[in-house]
Amino acid sequence: MRALIWLVAAVAVAALIYFLSTRETQETPQTQESEPAVEILAPSIGLIDDARINNAASEPGNWLAYGRTYEEQRFSPLTQINRDNVADLSLAWYRDMGTNRAQEATPIVVDGIMFFTSSWSRVFAITAATGEEVWSYDPKVPGEYGRRACCDVVNRGVAVYNGRVYFGSLDGRLIALDAATGEEVWQVNTIIDPDRFYTITGAPRAAKGKIFIGNGGAEFGVRGYVTAYDAETGDQVWRFYTVPGDPSLPFEHPEMEMAADTWKGGEWWEIGGGGTVWNSIVYDPDFDQVYLGVGNGSPWTRVIRSPGGGDNLFLSSIVALDVDTGSMNWYYQTTPGDNWDYTAVQDMALADMEVDGVMRKVLLQAPKNGFFYVIDRENGELLRANPFATVTWASHIDMETGRPVENPDLDFSEDEKWVLPGPLGAHNWQAMSVDVDAGVVYLPAQDNPFIYGMSDEWKQTGVYKRNPGAFNLGVELGGLAQLVVNNIDSQPTPKGYLKAFDPLTGDDKWVVEIPHYWNGGVLGTAGGLVFHGDALGHLTAYDKDNGEALWQFNTYTSMLAPPITFEIDGVQYVSILTGSGGGDLFAGEPMPPVAIPASLTYGNFGKMLVFKLGGEAELPIPNAVSRTIPEQTLSSVGDEEIARGERLYGAYCSVCHGLVARSGGVIADLRHMSEGSHVAFNQIVLEGLLSAQGMAAFSDSLAEEDADSIHEYVRRRAHEDRELAMGKKEAARLTWLQ
Ligand code: CA
Repeated sequence: MRALIWLVAAVAVAALIYFLSTRETQETPQTQESEPAVEILAPSIGLIDDARINNAASEPGNWLAYGRTYEEQRFSPLTQINRDNVADLSLAWYRDMGTNRAQEATPIVVDGIMFFTSSWSRVFAITAATGEEVWSYDPKVPGEYGRRACCDVVNRGVAVYNGRVYFGSLDGRLIALDAATGEEVWQVNTIIDPDRFYTITGAPRAAKGKIFIGNGGAEFGVRGYVTAYDAETGDQVWRFYTVPGDPSLPFEHPEMEMAADTWKGGEWWEIGGGGTVWNSIVYDPDFDQVYLGVGNGSPWTRVIRSPGGGDNLFLSSIVALDVDTGSMNWYYQTTPGDNWDYTAVQDMALADMEVDGVMRKVLLQAPKNGFFYVIDRENGELLRANPFATVTWASHIDMETGRPVENPDLDFSEDEKWVLPGPLGAHNWQAMSVDVDAGVVYLPAQDNPFIYGMSDEWKQTGVYKRNPGAFNLGVELGGLAQLVVNNIDSQPTPKGYLKAFDPLTGDDKWVVEIPHYWNGGVLGTAGGLVFHGDALGHLTAYDKDNGEALWQFNTYTSMLAPPITFEIDGVQYVSILTGSGGGDLFAGEPMPPVAIPASLTYGNFGKMLVFKLGGEAELPIPNAVSRTIPEQTLSSVGDEEIARGERLYGAYCSVCHGLVARSGGVIADLRHMSEGSHVAFNQIVLEGLLSAQGMAAFSDSLAEEDADSIHEYVRRRAHEDRELAMGKKEAARLTWLQ
């Protein structure tokens, strides 16, 4: 039987069950203690300001902002490492980051110090040439927030600005640290409703004396907004809501009145509305405006969210705001009436490009929906929208109206349908790199389908009630395995790509196919190289002209984070954080032809790796992790209870522990639970025995008999796979649902 796993793209629900032998740690990484920061640091540490970022061309050796400069092109002018000598690139130093959860951060490098975040929003200042720690800071996020994060306990990085380091913690705080010492200067709680599952995983951006931050949580049912805080004091300057709230209350700002006209019927404010800005916020000094990449609806399905139709502004939109006032200048909605989790939160890059013979100041984005947008930054005019991966939900974008032409055959309001892209997108948050001179974008893309079907509850009752402790998607998750099994013959094959894509013509200059879809971000350099880390654990340097692999390093760990490059004392370095997970926890262990990721083979032990020409550090080669499923003690309960457990597992556990109880190697694989975990199962699930490690209590959502059913389901799944692995069966049973 074919994989359940590649089919599902996915997102995440809530965590469940952490078994006692979990490898998760929240400990401070084991490395040497450093000298007090004051003795090491120059007094000018982290003194990045707007002028310095605007003039980044004069200091190509630094990486001053999230996407290197305000333009966020992630294309470095450094050339010391180039096509001719990249074969001599080797490890300068590495650091074990003490985590087996995903690492997604882009470091900021300035004045010889590298500032970055790891899992659980921990912050590090490291001497970039040697790897010595200057300081570290742990915001001590409560472990139960692991359950509140749709897509792992990740963080994508810091902003360094006027001597301070700013970052968002998973539990929703914006925190300012002294860049020289790591001491806290101020912190504010950015969350408007503590009862909803808001999180922060994105990197704040800094400009014009302000810090901009959004949040995540649309899958759980929240309302999106972005807040600008005074960089010095932490005082709120403005807040822009991305979707309308309760219509019985006044509009917070005029744009909400306009947006409310595009929501019809339903009770979106009760479920949340969505529109979270969890990743991309870009400042544009040319027009003194800040662009928000706005996320999907909550719930995903529009027939529940807004049954009377409407575009549901500003879901899945790019919104341009005045940087000082937060009032809107223009917007462009990539997916009107979003129905598929097609966020427009993906990185946005700014460029000056000649389009149809005219120089334009453009914004470039490849959102989840599979079309690559080129937009005029002055007024939001759509200039191009070419597909960059396989797209089945729409035939094309009508360039007259700027709207997608949807494929009516894939309407899933009655029958479930395979759709490309799925909710992991044709491109997700993993960074792209823009090579303006070559006229191409180096893009980590994927063809990753999902089977969309309305939730059983809604189909049976016509009513959708928000579940405060779980995903609120409006699509069927609890019975997803069953949908997949029933539609297995029409399931498209997931694939991953690195593409050199021309956003104006829509042509691929070259394509590298990667045998797993969930790969890392991209860095291009004037040395003629494109660096990319993949799911198989390979960091590869490709020739940027033709995609030929010129150098490869086996990190033995799957990667999502983008490489960056910098120069210190005349030596160019390339760095990357390793460790996968994120939004793909749900898909779990892949089945052929999708390759087994390194993090499943070797474990997901995240590191910071830094390379230079002639580096002499050696990375230890890890042992492969045992994947033998232990023998199970089965009870005599019938298929009906197993099916009940399967549905509950799908709704509450699968997004972290993996579809059909097969983990992808990051979160505990419940088929491998120790006897001790079996004994303590209900304490773990209901009482939060392992909440400090991220496995929160579910007693607010699950009763004891629910936990018993889930436990029995997990044992049966483990038994099926063990029998298969031992050659006693030709195929494992994948569903007990009818
Ligand atoms: Ca989403």
